[in-house]
Amino acid sequence: MSEWVFAPQPPTSVAVAGQGQRFPVARVFCLGRNYWWPDALAGGRPEREAPFFFMKPAAAAIAADGELEYPPLTAEFCPEIELVIAVGKDAVNLTVESALDVVWGYAAGLDMTRRDLQMAAKEIGRPWEGAKAFDASAPLSPIVPVSRIGHPNSGALWLTVNGVERQRSDLACQIWSVAELLSHISHSLHLKAGDLIFTGTPAGVEGVQPGDRVSAGIEGIGEVSVRIAPAAKVTTQPPRY
Ligand code: MN
Repeated sequence: MSEWVFAPQPPTSVAVAGQGQRFPVARVFCLGRNYWWPDALAGGRPEREAPFFFMKPAAAAIAADGELEYPPLTAEFCPEIELVIAVGKDAVNLTVESALDVVWGYAAGLDMTRRDLQMAAKEIGRPWEGAKAFDASAPLSPIVPVSRIGHPNSGALWLTVNGVERQRSDLACQIWSVAELLSHISHSLHLKAGDLIFTGTPAGVEGVQPGDRVSAGIEGIGEVSVRIAPAAKVTTQPPRY
């Protein structure tokens, strides 16, 4: 008799740039607000607030190529270009000075967001999961090892839709550094080898439609390009009870 009552789900993994091995994904964390958006700067540069994070299912991490299905229950489906940290060692209570030792590599990722659901959740003080955690919501480029690129702390990041630029900033504009973010999260829980951390997006977030071509990238790290496909079975309203 099998140890399992049914076959376990296969492990989630993502490609490594330039080699055949794959990176096994443990969990997907996403940071909020790591670039100053113009609305936050209206009254001059504010004090930076402690980083905060939410999560997506590990299986949401997929290769950002080919087609990306338009998800259910939204009329405002938004791509957010983000630097992704790929953690290669278990760790807890990291100091800022030692935190970069746990980084295996970096990728360019899209934090796909049902922004209308996010705004509705914010309004009534509910969690963001409905807006952030759904199938295929964390597409990313192949991971580039630190052994090849080190720890980039500058370089342009950008996103275009049908060739029109929507987002552009630079890694140098991050409010919290990669080391600070890792230290912060590792004081909240044990980081695990295989964790992916999306690190927040610059201003310019807007919805896309089926048929749109989303291209994005981070200088020196990677590029992604996906076409938004119609949902296979469109569900626009939650069920009635
Ligand atoms: Mn984001």
